[in-house]
Amino acid sequence: MPHSFETLAIHAGQEPDPSTGAITPPIHMTSTYAQPALGKNKGWVYSRGGNPTRENLETCLAALEKGAGCCAFGSGMAAITALLQTLKPGDGVVAGLDLYGGTHRILETLFRPWGVEIVYTPDATPEGYRDALAHTANPRLAWVESPTNPLLNISDIAAISAVVHEHGECNVVVDNTFATPWLQRPIELGADYVIHSTSKYLAGHSDVVGGVIVAKTNELLDPVKRMQKSAGAIPSPFDVWLTQRGVKSLAVRMQRHCDNALALAQALQAMPEFTRVVYPGLPDHPHHEIARKQMDGFGGVVTVEMRDGFPAVERLLERLEIFTLAEGLGGIESMVNFPPRMSHESLSEEELAERGITQSTVRFSVGIENIDDLIRDIRQAAG
Ligand SMILES: *Cc1c(COP(=O)(O)O)cnc(C)c1O
Repeated sequence: MPHSFETLAIHAGQEPDPSTGAITPPIHMTSTYAQPALGKNKGWVYSRGGNPTRENLETCLAALEKGAGCCAFGSGMAAITALLQTLKPGDGVVAGLDLYGGTHRILETLFRPWGVEIVYTPDATPEGYRDALAHTANPRLAWVESPTNPLLNISDIAAISAVVHEHGECNVVVDNTFATPWLQRPIELGADYVIHSTSKYLAGHSDVVGGVIVAKTNELLDPVKRMQKSAGAIPSPFDVWLTQRGVKSLAVRMQRHCDNALALAQALQAMPEFTRVVYPGLPDHPHHEIARKQMDGFGGVVTVEMRDGFPAVERLLERLEIFTLAEGLGGIESMVNFPPRMSHESLSEEELAERGITQSTVRFSVGIENIDDLIRDIRQAAG
């Protein structure tokens, strides 16, 4: 019987423990496994290669993303790096310019010096990717992020996948961190790999850092699995157990994140202190129609421009009481971020301008607190 998302989130990879009946599978806090005799084992040999707690999470997230398999890592960046490490010198990556800062940094500081060709398209549309592919000698990965951080641009994953797959050997990877599989399943739209920083919505409680790669087929998963085992950037059993605990409530949390974010975005539009409110669920968002087509909801992040520039931003950040100034997003608690000095600090003035980030840009990660409290908090801090 095929199960639906909410059921899989709770039960996939979560069989009660066969030895005790414990309804929550235990944390297998072990580095290695006793072997009954030379050449004999119970399928587990050493925890860099495999660990039952980690495998449970991998089973669950592969099911939620509709992939064949999944590999878990110690951070989102470790997952991203592992996938890029499956490339060889001379291979090419095409990517949207509006990319998570850490991904941009690892491409530029590690993979370009190692001989991987990297070509960006400022225009993350099917035409933009087509053009970038035409300027890449041996494209092997097309990197897509949607929605992007912090301006929540949306790319048409199905149309981009179709364009990329005309290039035979090139695979599409989607960083699905902002959407989560509850709102968007890139493999169903034609992507080959899905990446997550599970530190955000999947774990969801701002208490653990992690990452995963889900692959569409076992053949695509193989090189990632080899990299997970050989390079060894694995998560601890405790960390994957915490992540699993978060994933069980993903559907209800995301629903509330989306409801709160939409209500907040609408309230901010009515406040004169904000000249621009960016949220894919608003009809005036430039990619609202694509978002409606490929997503089941619009996520929990809202980005604004403040009318009175940086002094107004500083004042807002000081006066907010519920929204906490912090790096990161996707937790149950509301957080606020000033991209030019925090998440996007490594970008130059020019690079910020190219992406439309200014000294008045503020990003809210809308939590699941009471929405009236959240609106009141921003009203008192901005006014
Ligand atoms: C946070 C984030 C990452 C990096 O993940 P870490 O778990 O912080 O290493 C990658 N992509 C996106 C979109 C993110 O938000």
